[in-house]
Order: sequence, then C-alpha cells, then structure tokens
Amino acid sequence: MTEKLLEKFFTALNSLPGIGKKSAYRIGFHLIRMNEEEFQQFIDNLKSIKQSIQFCEVCGSLSESKICEICASDKRDVHSLCVVERAEDVLFVENTKEFSGKYHVLGGVISPIDGIGPDKLRIKELLQRLQKEPVEEIILATNPTLEGDATASYIANLLKDSKIKLTRIAHGISVGSTLEFADRYTLSQAIRSRNTL
Ligand SMILES: [Zn+2]
Repeated sequence: MTEKLLEKFFTALNSLPGIGKKSAYRIGFHLIRMNEEEFQQFIDNLKSIKQSIQFCEVCGSLSESKICEICASDKRDVHSLCVVERAEDVLFVENTKEFSGKYHVLGGVISPIDGIGPDKLRIKELLQRLQKEPVEEIILATNPTLEGDATASYIANLLKDSKIKLTRIAHGISVGSTLEFADRYTLSQAIRSRNTL
C-alpha cells in the first residue's frame, strides 16, 4: 500500500520538467523527512508565490500586478521590442543587461506536430500593440530551434511591409539550444550582434 502511494508521489514529481527519476526520489524523500512545520512553511511559500504571480496583460510576462514593472516603466525604450517564446525568457534577457526596451511574450512557438498554429500564440496581441506603440525595432529572440526559427520567419513575413526594423538573435547560441541554457555572455553577444532580417 505504501509502495503504491510512494509511486504516485514520485510520478507526480517526475512529471515536472527537468526532474528525472533520481531527482524525483531525492526530492520526494526529502519532503517526506521534513517535519510538519517545515513542510507547512514550504507549501505555504509555494502557494503564496503561485497566487501572487500572474501574466502581464500587455506583454504576457510574469508580474505581481495586472501590468508588469517593465511595461509600466517610463525608463524603458519604447522604440525597441524584444519578442520571446516564454515568460521566463524575459528574465534571461534581462540578466544580460543588454536590452533596455520592452518585451512581448508569444507563449510558445509554431509547432504543427503539437497542433500549435500561429493563432494559439500571442501574435494577434503583438500586432495590436504595434498599432498603438511607437516601435521602431523588433528583436525576434525566439530560440534558435527549428520551431523558433519558423516562428521568427512567420512574424518577419507578417511585418515585411511595415517600417519596423526586424532583427534576429542567433549568433553565438548553438542551433537547437535555448536562451535558458545560453550563458549570460553568449546571450549578451547574441543580442549585441543581432542580424537584420
Ligand atoms: Zn508587461
């Protein structure tokens, strides 16, 4: 009986990204060994963080309020917009301190195999923003994967008749890799030496 219960527990942990079987066991047993107070504190922390983080209504990145700090800031360059796949990519680009504009999170990439077409991404929202915001350059910072490249090309094609300068990061980040795993220096280089499309 206990075995079945444990198996269920480990399977749940194992379903998290980046947590293999070994890590699931280590984390699982650690949680089980925690005393009631420690465990409750851990759960309360997770709960309160999960409850206070939402997605920014404008850019789609993580925020503690309806509009994130970057969108609300008047210190950011409104002429430059960095388009990324996921909300966490904003943090990776921010860490490079190489970009001072605003962001737009697509919420994924075009992937026909997974049934994700352009309509499932925040591309419509991007086009709406471009009607209102004085954007002069868009940095397409989707990951240099097959899907990331295809998504960047798709957006570039949509905007080919606009006056907006389109650039693509790729330089320095190995093909097939993601922003998450590029070290800060490589990602800085990739942003600095972006190519015009
Ligand atoms: Zn925002």
